[in-house]
Amino acid sequence: MKGLLLGGCLLGGALSPARAQMVFHQPGLEQPPAANGDPGAADLLPGFDPLTGPRSRLQRDWVGTRRVSASTPILVMAGHADSQNIGGSGTAGEAVGRLGAAPMYPGISDELYWNMVIATNVVALGQQRGLDIRYYRPPFRTIVDGNEVGTNWSVGRDHAASGGYALEIHFDAYGSDGVGSGLIPPVHRRFSTIDESLAQEFGGYPMAFRNVLGGPKRGIGLLEIGKLEGQLEASLRDPRTRPQAVQAIAERIVRALELGLGRQSSPTASSPGLSGSRSNNRTAQVR
Ligand SMILES: [Zn+2]
Repeated sequence: MKGLLLGGCLLGGALSPARAQMVFHQPGLEQPPAANGDPGAADLLPGFDPLTGPRSRLQRDWVGTRRVSASTPILVMAGHADSQNIGGSGTAGEAVGRLGAAPMYPGISDELYWNMVIATNVVALGQQRGLDIRYYRPPFRTIVDGNEVGTNWSVGRDHAASGGYALEIHFDAYGSDGVGSGLIPPVHRRFSTIDESLAQEFGGYPMAFRNVLGGPKRGIGLLEIGKLEGQLEASLRDPRTRPQAVQAIAERIVRALELGLGRQSSPTASSPGLSGSRSNNRTAQVR
């Protein structure tokens, strides 16, 4: 199954089958674009965040309404942490893959590097805010069988099965291979308010994206922060802007988790840039 994840984060495959046309009948939730593909409606989709770049334009065909306990344990993992140097090692990113820059860290994809940076910062921030949240790192960087004990898939599956929320951080491929920001939701149970909140903040992929990937099938949500290219990648790579960029992304994720858990989101001492992206995202809900 890991072979499905080639070079870029998630390559190949057709979009989800039409079996999931539905669920947008609850008032106050996102409305689908006009069924006839009205270009006027499509033009209203901002679909772009100043920090994280383009959102997925694939239509979200689900809504998360299942309430979860405010004390739900959250497990955060870095995507591709156990699949380096084999198929599915994550995107090299535009800087390395297209522009010839040196990798951020020898021997691992730039995607894994940033996945780890974001995941650990999310956990640190979430713990500060009092969430039951922890980071999981597999024992080896290359585990060929994704079902082996200790892989993200195995540990995430068990966590989700026991009622926790398992979230794997990803960056999407650069260029035309990438789709953009959004949550690829776990499909093991009815979609939850955490799924909904993350999708409101980052965008949402169709529930059967690429015939349901290995992680979501096991109950693990995949959060695509954005395509690893352009302004997003530049602001992460530049040591002068990196702390602010990482913090802004971690803040957005933790705030979404808090809202999904039904907690009051703590006021943040966030940067003007963050507020800007926040208001942009509110606009982006009309899709
Ligand atoms: Zn990935």
